[in-house]
Amino acid sequence: MAARGRLALYDAQLGAEGVVWSRCWTGASGAVLPTAPTDAGHLVKQTTIKKRFEQFLRESSLKVTPQRRRIFDRVFSTHEHFSAERLYAWLREEEGPRVSRATVYRTLDVLVKGAFIESLDTGTGELMYEHVLGHHHHDHMVCLACGKIQEFRDERIEELQRLAAEKLGFRVVSHVHRLSGYCRTCGARNRSGSSPDPGA
Ligand SMILES: [Zn+2]
Ligand SMILES: [Zn+2]
Ligand SMILES: [Zn+2]
Repeated sequence: MAARGRLALYDAQLGAEGVVWSRCWTGASGAVLPTAPTDAGHLVKQTTIKKRFEQFLRESSLKVTPQRRRIFDRVFSTHEHFSAERLYAWLREEEGPRVSRATVYRTLDVLVKGAFIESLDTGTGELMYEHVLGHHHHDHMVCLACGKIQEFRDERIEELQRLAAEKLGFRVVSHVHRLSGYCRTCGARNRSGSSPDPGA
């Protein structure tokens, strides 16, 4: 149920964007759903992004290797926010050409430079990544206790940011809007933990 809601959300966002490059067929946990996309159009567009990536590698004087292709595929098969170490663990656990930790880090840098993915500073010292090409812009709330990352988008906030920039004659290229705090679960736990014991 939750997974379907998430799918619907991304479909709606992509529809609003007007450009459908890729879709995330993932559940709330980030696991790829068994219902694989079947429409040819979708598959063609996924291939287009991959071609662009390979083109970008060549332009950056980097070789198109099975390892780099594998990293690209893994990154674009999830919408989970992941760290470099998490990605490295996935690649080690799953079948495929062996990929070194250094290659994972270097390829993530290349993907960020090419705007295929974005890095997110969670404020905890570990960078998280997510693929962004083909996705509508969104902002993040990061839980300081459990590390959970929630996505949100509010047109009013987006508009106020545009107006604030316009007033100062600032041409915005991109923005990062991150809220740090406590998620519903951790917030409730903190409150119950700090409430005075009526028996004391
Ligand atoms: Zn925003
Ligand atoms: Zn939390
Ligand atoms: Zn995100």
